[in-house]
Amino acid sequence: MSSYWSELIRGLEPYVPGEQPKDRQYIKLNTNENPYPPSPVVLEAIREHTNQELRLYPDPTGDILRTEVADYYQVEKNNVFVGNGSDEVLAFAFITFFKQAKPVFYPDISYSFYPVYSKFMEIEAVTVPLTADFQINLADYPVDNGGIIFANPNAPTGLSLPLGQIETLLQRNTGSVVLVDEAYIDFGGSSCIPLIKKYPNLLVTQTLSKSRSLAGLRIGYAVGSAELIEGLERAKNSFNSYTLDRLALVAGAAAMRDRDYLDTTCRAVMATREWVVGALERLKFAVVPSAANFVFIRHQERFAEDLFSELRQRGVLVRYFKLPRIDNYLRVTIGTDQEMQELIRQLQAILGSK
Ligand code: PMP
Repeated sequence: MSSYWSELIRGLEPYVPGEQPKDRQYIKLNTNENPYPPSPVVLEAIREHTNQELRLYPDPTGDILRTEVADYYQVEKNNVFVGNGSDEVLAFAFITFFKQAKPVFYPDISYSFYPVYSKFMEIEAVTVPLTADFQINLADYPVDNGGIIFANPNAPTGLSLPLGQIETLLQRNTGSVVLVDEAYIDFGGSSCIPLIKKYPNLLVTQTLSKSRSLAGLRIGYAVGSAELIEGLERAKNSFNSYTLDRLALVAGAAAMRDRDYLDTTCRAVMATREWVVGALERLKFAVVPSAANFVFIRHQERFAEDLFSELRQRGVLVRYFKLPRIDNYLRVTIGTDQEMQELIRQLQAILGSK
């Protein structure tokens, strides 16, 4: 704590990302990265554009990437906003839509960046408890609000919501923005992007970090009505004109174009998830049904925090959140088959089964 810091900064509780350890080689199942490399077409695009043009600023509106996202989702370019990871897109969305006289509402268990943005931007927030089995019940969200945000599939639970329930919320909640964070949508959920044509207050964010294996490049986007997108542009242009660099823009555009690669790698992750769930259940874990590239698990006899430490010692990193309601759960990213076999082997050794 320094007296040079503003009062705002002194009062913050910053988000703590999952560890990126440097001490030894781990099987890294703690930050929901994709175990497969980016598409070869993406790497080729980066190589091709690694040239003297890097002396020039990038396109401030990121049009090549916006065009590809629009093409992928059959919307217009002015329905798309791009940013430096969906974290940045979410940050702009909080300040643009949720800084209102009324509070923003979000689930008590969800992406832990939402409360961090609220505090940073001095936005009043109300948390709505998930049901006992960790479901988001949208009927619990009052109409009198300054905005609603939730993740679908939710994190860290992995549970997804049917589109019909989201549409029912949109039918009654017309006075504020409903933001659906679809960071994990490609691993088994259904995107509500088609609904943006009917509901001008719906904003959907997605990322290239997970399903398109590009966490290292930081690319995210939002899709919504032109008026919402224009608001995000105003926020961005009051903060940093060039949020995506030249290489990220060409790589992102190539990644959106390579639909076969996306399909193949997502299918592989989902197939691995399926057998891993069975193997974990045989080891007496309760597994929350997941539509994401991770599973949220609780052992019937052993404390999650102990299992987390023991796995870490054995070179397997998973995520543990010491938070109310979920402090006996582990979030485990789906890696390759080989990595997951090693996870199961280590768990067998820890739990003393053969
Ligand atoms: N939303 C959710 C629910 C997430 O888990 C993450 C990843 N931590 C993000 C958004 C942000 O992802 P990125 O900034 O890499 O696009």
